[in-house]
Amino acid sequence: MPIYYCPLCQAPLKRHCRKDDPQAFFWSCTAYRTGCSFCCDDFQASPFLKTCPECGKILRRKISKKTGRPYVACFNKAEHASQEVLFFHDDGTPSLSGVGSLPKAKAIYTCPECHSSLRYLRIRNGRNAGKTIFLCANAQGHQSGKARFFDDQEGEPLL
Ligand SMILES: [Zn+2]
Ligand SMILES: [Zn+2]
Ligand SMILES: [Zn+2]
Repeated sequence: MPIYYCPLCQAPLKRHCRKDDPQAFFWSCTAYRTGCSFCCDDFQASPFLKTCPECGKILRRKISKKTGRPYVACFNKAEHASQEVLFFHDDGTPSLSGVGSLPKAKAIYTCPECHSSLRYLRIRNGRNAGKTIFLCANAQGHQSGKARFFDDQEGEPLL
């Protein structure tokens, strides 16, 4: 089996069987003793290291108890434009069900607080699905310590 490495500390990852479900596997970092708590889900005997396009966290791949089918999601709601769980196709690509493609922003805009450039995106699911917004994901650059969102007015952010 090939060796896979931790995206945080580059130590090798190890595959484990879940105690509560011997059919399910996950990966954890072998450097856990020195403080690395990285772990991720399994995808065909390799670590599932796809990241969420909105918050950058590693996506979770789970098997639905109801249907027995896999699904991929990011549960890091607080950093999502819609403040909801985001769902993805099984390969980690965003699931854009019922939502049209993104229009073009009129220009490149920057965050009024940290001056990073804003990302223009469409909320994919949840109660605001379909809405377009501007996002500054540079949480550390903000007094609140959180990402900031700006409403969209025909391709321009309401700053
Ligand atoms: Zn690690
Ligand atoms: Zn996310
Ligand atoms: Zn900002």
